[in-house]
Amino acid sequence: MELLIEKILVYALAAIFCVAVVMVYLRKQRRNSKIVEEKIRQAKLDGLYEPVSLHPVVDPNSCIQTGACIAACPEKDILGIRNGKATTINASRCIGHGACFHACPTEAISLFIGTEKRGVELPHVNQNFETNVPGIYIAGELGGMGLIKNAVEQGKQAVENLIKSTKKGHKAEFDLIVVGAGPAGISATLTAKKHNLKSLTLEQDTLGGTVFTFPRSKIVMTSAMDLPLFGKVKLYETSKTELLELWNQVLKKNELSINENTKVDSIIAEPGHFKINTLSGEHYTTKNVLLTIGRRGSPRKLNIAGETLEKVAYRLLEPEDIKNKEIMVVGGGDSAIESALLLADHNNVILSYRSGSFKRIKPKNSEKINDAIKKGIIEVRYNTNVISIEKETITLTTVKDDKQSKLKNDLLFIFAGGELPTQFLQKIGLHITKKFGEAILKH
Ligand SMILES: Cc1cc2nc3c(=O)[nH]c(=O)nc-3n(C[C@H](O)[C@H](O)[C@H](O)COP(=O)(O)OP(=O)(O)OC[C@H]3O[C@@H](n4cnc5c(N)ncnc54)[C@H](O)[C@@H]3O)c2cc1C
Ligand code: SF4
Repeated sequence: MELLIEKILVYALAAIFCVAVVMVYLRKQRRNSKIVEEKIRQAKLDGLYEPVSLHPVVDPNSCIQTGACIAACPEKDILGIRNGKATTINASRCIGHGACFHACPTEAISLFIGTEKRGVELPHVNQNFETNVPGIYIAGELGGMGLIKNAVEQGKQAVENLIKSTKKGHKAEFDLIVVGAGPAGISATLTAKKHNLKSLTLEQDTLGGTVFTFPRSKIVMTSAMDLPLFGKVKLYETSKTELLELWNQVLKKNELSINENTKVDSIIAEPGHFKINTLSGEHYTTKNVLLTIGRRGSPRKLNIAGETLEKVAYRLLEPEDIKNKEIMVVGGGDSAIESALLLADHNNVILSYRSGSFKRIKPKNSEKINDAIKKGIIEVRYNTNVISIEKETITLTTVKDDKQSKLKNDLLFIFAGGELPTQFLQKIGLHITKKFGEAILKH
């Protein structure tokens, strides 16, 4: 009898222990799910929940919540576990490494482009990277596949392909003009040199493309890649500075220069070649064009006097380095407001907006800017336009009665929207399709 009671007690204790473990586990899971739910709520408020391009899609039937995808993703809070299944949180921040795709032991993740709600426009290219207009090629992120390594590889392949179909003896000034000097454009420029093509690279901004815009402190994740005229680059976790230094060195060593601050405005097909016109008024003829312009588009300019002065910028890099300046930010969208707020801590910031109120900005930005206005941290000049930029001042005019005022000014940031790459491509006559959730990488 005593033995039986002892046995029952042991079993009961074991059962209680098991139930306790399960309860602790379930409670922890519920708590973690709540945290992820809160992050999703915030991501929706911040407009980061809906993916804008590549993003992971989790198959709930295969997911066994190992969390391997979350551990593998180098970006923060793109994936989380909710109710025992992986789910996306800030999906718009996904840059498409595919690290999650490879890490998942049950193959529950696929990489998609676009969603049912938000389509992504992609140009048609064939396996040689040629578009529907013979002689115009596309490589890099513009074609749908992001990442530095892919861009470098595609830039190289596109040039190698176009060489095969370029007949000698044409009358154009160049064999190839590369538009855009991000990783794809740099790689294409080097490949063109390697094969003795007469080529020219035009960049609307600065060498490096999207990489140039990364914060200095960002860890850039990449994998081994083959850089033409250099060889294997074995960088895995690197920095923007290291990458830019490498690209600059290779270009210099091969006596290559890139025409920076030269935006290609139009590409016109003429008999036997293309005519390229830049915004700064240069014209070139070329047999082939390689578009490596990425997906960020071109900032819209105000087209006013003084806009070429060095103090004018269309993006904000390293705000922490800007102190004690008289700054004007132009625009009423999220970028303008976020930049004004970032600069306001250490500078005198005025925001000029042509409308009477901020519409269609994220609720969080609306809250922050109203608070900053109330506290006198930022001055907003509604219903105004900048009409000219001088070395130490800017001239502002009111929309209604054209009253002009001159303000002291050291730096001017313009966020007046931009031209999407698709608009540019359509002008050239390239075919574009909208992808509403198409698997780019699946098991
Ligand atoms: C926040 C963020 C973090 C990222 N982190 C990583 C990472 O860690 N690892 C990684 O591998 N990838 C990362 N990426 C992705 C990577 O930066 C891109 O996939 C890559 O830069 C694409 O290269 P690209 O050459 O195709 O285009 P881009 O780098 O975008 O370059 C395009 C260039 O074309 C120029 N251009 C555009 N229009 C014109 C015109 N009309 N005339 C002349 N020039 C023009 C632009 O100014 C730009 O310099 C990240 C992206 C972002 C946004
Ligand atoms: S594709 Fe890359 S950035 Fe996107 S979720 Fe997966 S690991 Fe993160």
